[in-house]
Amino acid sequence: MADLSKKYDVLVAGGGNAALCAAIAARRAGSSVLLCEMATKFYRGGNTRHTRNIRCAHDAATETLSGPYPEEEFFQDLLQVTQGHTDEALARHMIAESKTVLDWLPEQGVRYQPSLGGTLSLGRTNSFFLGGGRSMLNALYLTAESLGVEIAYEAEVIDLDIDNGMFLSATVQRGAEHHKVRAATFVAACGGFESNIEWLKQYWGPAADNFLIRGTPHNRGTVLKLLLDRGVQETGDPTQCHAVAIDARAPKYDGGIITRLDCVVFGIVVNKHAKRFYDEGEEIWPKRYAIWGRLVAQQPDQIAYILFDASSLTLFMPSLYPPIEAGSIRELAGKLTLDPDTLEATVNEFNAAVRPGTFDDTILDDCRTEGIKPPKSHWARRLETTPYYAYPVRPGITFTYLATKVNKQARMLMRDGKPSANMFAAGEVMAGNVLGRGYAAGMGMTIGSVFGRIAGREAAANARN
Ligand SMILES: Cc1cc2nc3c(=O)[nH]c(=O)nc-3n(C[C@H](O)[C@H](O)[C@H](O)COP(=O)(O)OP(=O)(O)OC[C@H]3O[C@@H](n4cnc5c(N)ncnc54)[C@H](O)[C@@H]3O)c2cc1C
Repeated sequence: MADLSKKYDVLVAGGGNAALCAAIAARRAGSSVLLCEMATKFYRGGNTRHTRNIRCAHDAATETLSGPYPEEEFFQDLLQVTQGHTDEALARHMIAESKTVLDWLPEQGVRYQPSLGGTLSLGRTNSFFLGGGRSMLNALYLTAESLGVEIAYEAEVIDLDIDNGMFLSATVQRGAEHHKVRAATFVAACGGFESNIEWLKQYWGPAADNFLIRGTPHNRGTVLKLLLDRGVQETGDPTQCHAVAIDARAPKYDGGIITRLDCVVFGIVVNKHAKRFYDEGEEIWPKRYAIWGRLVAQQPDQIAYILFDASSLTLFMPSLYPPIEAGSIRELAGKLTLDPDTLEATVNEFNAAVRPGTFDDTILDDCRTEGIKPPKSHWARRLETTPYYAYPVRPGITFTYLATKVNKQARMLMRDGKPSANMFAAGEVMAGNVLGRGYAAGMGMTIGSVFGRIAGREAAANARN
């Protein structure tokens, strides 16, 4: 069992990708490292357990990537999804570092596989982990352990002693015991505050009670809050987060990827008043999937229903739960407890507005509506082939963007603008530096791996001096 009474060179709070990358990098640089993960060993790894891929720049195709993804293209993609809300210097630095991270992760035991099929079309830009996020984590834990990183499970950081920007010690609760853990440097890699419904309510009000959290229940923002209260500069908009539409029948926490619904573009989406509220075919799905969580969050009671017909049933990856099926729109309305007259009118109005076109879900096709609000700009086809189907959806929060401000060394900046003497941050806890809003698939892991490796390296150098 990890010794919490020793003084370490580097204390890493967290047990996901960012924490492991930091711990391994620091240990490889010669530091003694303690990693405190509040989850049990079985549930170790936070949101990283649920991941499938990472986005890294690369100059040429590889065994598992279908073509080059230049740094500039990555940056332009980031600019587009964030609508310019990013720290350009930091983002460019991250993208440049991502190139070497692509090879560094396999050196730590991680294996890639060719892109999975499905609706996100990421075969050129994103590297998929062989066996998924849990396998990736298992490889990193194995490497960390074999290098001599001390790992404490069920060890929650509950307080920090920080004096004028300098970390002195952390209070770690393991079981019923509290330990004062001392270290020369501190790396915060313990997620955002997405699992803290009370905190979410400060920005979203009672609506947050209806949010489902896609990942770990442990990312409650305890360390983030401690750091901000102890003088670390905050960045990022607290209302911004990555949120997608997920099956409303998913569990409150940890439903993971299999509850996400990617069929919005194949049908129409109505709220509890059986009314459409947004253009379901505005853009290709990889560029729009991450807005639907917020859109549903803005609807009454934070619930919506994706409706489609038999012609679309096999075109997307299904949810864990079967769709609700009916022989008519009225019957479907009954099963969804929607007003049948209104739902029928909504579908009839939509069907009447659909213009003829050639359906192709791989491009922005010419199947669109005319004369209704909101329009459906692409992939609009009449709902007319029985049976009809529906999935109830709720906002599924992936992670929040409120963050500790960092510089290129992943070193935290204090409110007076000075760099902290010995505190670093990586992963979700500082994601808001790069992600002011929006998201491009695979960037969560880029942020964790790149800044985790930097934080570990820099913390080790700091501890040596
Ligand atoms: C369903 C789902 C699918 C996703 N798919 C992808 C994907 O394919 N690609 C991608 O790039 N991103 C994906 N993401 C986002 C990605 O998971 C995160 O961006 C990334 O894993 C963050 O890594 P992290 O190490 O910062 O946080 P996490 O992996 O969440 O790790 C945080 C860790 O901190 C621990 N912790 C929290 N508080 C404390 C405390 N007080 N003391 C000690 N430990 C604490 C937690 O137990 C956890 O182990 C997905 C997220 C979800 C939920």
